[in-house]
Amino acid sequence: MATIEMQTTLAPVREKVEAGERLDLEDGLALLESDDLLEIGELADLARRLRGGTDDVFFVQNMNLYQTNICRVKCKFCAFAATQKQEQAYTITAEELVADAAHQHELSGFTEIHMVNGENPHISFDFYVDTIRQLHAALPSVHLKCYTASEIHHMTTVSGGLTHEEVLRELKAAGLGSLPGGGAEIFANRVRQLVAPGKEDPEIWFHVHDTAHRMGMPTHCTMLYGHVETYEERVDHLIRLREQQDKTGGFLAFIPLAFHPENTVFERRGWRHTTGADDLKMLAVSRLMLDNIEHIKAYWIMMGMPLAAVGLHFGANDVQGTVVRETIFHAAGAVTETEQKIDQLVRFVSETGRTPVQRDTLYNEIRRWA
Ligand code: SF4
Repeated sequence: MATIEMQTTLAPVREKVEAGERLDLEDGLALLESDDLLEIGELADLARRLRGGTDDVFFVQNMNLYQTNICRVKCKFCAFAATQKQEQAYTITAEELVADAAHQHELSGFTEIHMVNGENPHISFDFYVDTIRQLHAALPSVHLKCYTASEIHHMTTVSGGLTHEEVLRELKAAGLGSLPGGGAEIFANRVRQLVAPGKEDPEIWFHVHDTAHRMGMPTHCTMLYGHVETYEERVDHLIRLREQQDKTGGFLAFIPLAFHPENTVFERRGWRHTTGADDLKMLAVSRLMLDNIEHIKAYWIMMGMPLAAVGLHFGANDVQGTVVRETIFHAAGAVTETEQKIDQLVRFVSETGRTPVQRDTLYNEIRRWA
C-alpha cells in the first residue's frame, strides 16, 4: 500500500533547526509567509530548547523614565515627541527626576531604570552626564539602562564633536550600565526614508552598539514592525543584528516591537494594529533567525499579558518587567500595586508550564517561583 509522505513548506526549515544549522533569508521568508502558526511556534520552541533554553522565564522589576519629549527628528510613527513650542513639551531637571525616582524606589525597590528621550537640541551633553551621575549617586544599586543609540549619536552633536566612544566613556564613568535597543526601527533604507527620514543611517546605530560592546557595555536590540515594511525587510533586519552579534556578542536580548498607529499619521491613513497571529509569528521567527541572542522578549506592555504568555510557546523566554510608574499621591497603595503586578506575571507565566524568575538587567537571578 502506498504511503502518503507529509511534506510541508516548512520541512526544509525543520531539518535545519533539528540539525542546528543557521537559517537564511529564504528560510525566514518561508516562515513569515506560512499560515501554519502552530508549527512555526513549535519550531521556535524546539530551536530554543536545542540551543540550551530551559523552562525559566525572566522578568525584571524596572521603572521607565522620560526626561524630555522635545525632539528634532519627527519620525512619522511617533506619538510621543513634541516641539519646544507645543503645550505638551517638557524637560525635567536632573534634580526633579532623581527625587521622583528615589521616591518610587522606596515604594517598589525596582532594580533597573529604563530611560529614553526625544533628541532635544536645546540641552547640552553635560545635562545627560549630570543626570546619570545624580541618578547613580542616589540609587547606586539600580542598573541604569538609558539612551538609545540614536540619542548617543545625538549627544555627539550637542557635545560639539565628541565621538561615540568618548560619549559612552563619559556616561559609563558617570554610572551608565547598558543601552536599550530603541532607534533600530527597520534598517532597510526604503523603509527608513518613509517612516523616519530624519533618523540617522543604520550604520550609525550599529556603530554605537559595536562601540559599546567593545567597551564591555551590554546593549539590547529591537525591531519596530507592522507598518510599511515587507517580510523581506524584516528578515534582513534580523540577519543584520545576527551579524553584529557574531562580531561582538554584546546584545543581551532582542525585543520585537509591534507598531501602534494610534495618534500618528498612519492611523489617519487607515493603518491598524498588528494582529495576534503576526505578533506570535514575529516572536517565533526572531527566535529562529537570531540563533546567537539568548533572550527574546514577549513585551507584554505592547502585546498584553495573555498573548505574551502564549508567546512563551513561540520562542520567547522573557516578559520584560513590572514597569513601575506609580504616582506620588498613591504612595500607600504603590507597594501593593507592584506586588500585584509581580503576582500577575507569576500567575501568567506559571500557567504556561514555565518557571517565573525575577532577574536583574544582566540576567542574574534574584528570585524564583517553584
Ligand atoms: S527620534 Fe524618537 S522621540 Fe524623536 S520622533 Fe523619532 S521616535 Fe519620536
